[in-house]
Amino acid sequence: MRILIVEDELSVARQIAAALTEDGHDPKAVHSGEAALEELSKGPFDLVVVDIGLPGINGFELLRRLREQHLASRVLLLTGRSAVEDRVTGLQLGADDYLPKPFAMRELVARVRALGRRYPEEPVICLRVGDVTLDLSTHDVHRNTQRVELSPRELMLLKVLMREPGRVFTRTELCERVWEHAHEYDTKLVEVFIGRLRKKLGEPPLIHTIRHVGYTIGGPEGKTPVRRTTNSQRRG
Ligand code: CA
Repeated sequence: MRILIVEDELSVARQIAAALTEDGHDPKAVHSGEAALEELSKGPFDLVVVDIGLPGINGFELLRRLREQHLASRVLLLTGRSAVEDRVTGLQLGADDYLPKPFAMRELVARVRALGRRYPEEPVICLRVGDVTLDLSTHDVHRNTQRVELSPRELMLLKVLMREPGRVFTRTELCERVWEHAHEYDTKLVEVFIGRLRKKLGEPPLIHTIRHVGYTIGGPEGKTPVRRTTNSQRRG
């Protein structure tokens, strides 16, 4: 996750950044609320770790502004104060979690991970295999920049294949996934539709026949899901 750390104690900020980097995140530390607002105006962060005791704009005030201006999706508050009222105030202002100081870095990393799980990643909106893309919201298919017109069944078949590039599907499996009524299907249908898809997608061939087994598309390396990461959309 891209994480902004707002902490005026430089050594603490550095330690937090180091621990989060080690856990695979991409943290950036700033040392005042004003600097945080400026950083957030430049681009979205997945999580903001805010120390309540800051010079100038304090943590509560920063949190209020973040929420008002929809600048942050998730906020973890840090504080030296252990008063219940502070915790309640923070949560009422929209903090997602609260960690009293002093804390073990391990615990901070665990809280950050938990916050990451609480808001799962946005669903994949576009499937891509090689130079073919399938937009799951508009159902537009393109090879390079060329639009490919597909019938609804062809589209469904392509979608099944593109969701798992490199996986080999048997004809029966594809039948079951694309034609709902098992008694109506005939595995010959799959061959016909695979033939049509190949023709429409053009060269070089992307769908491969695995002898005596079935079909596969691209390879595992061809899978590049594209996700929406707009910060304000995440909270809904
Ligand atoms: Ca402080």
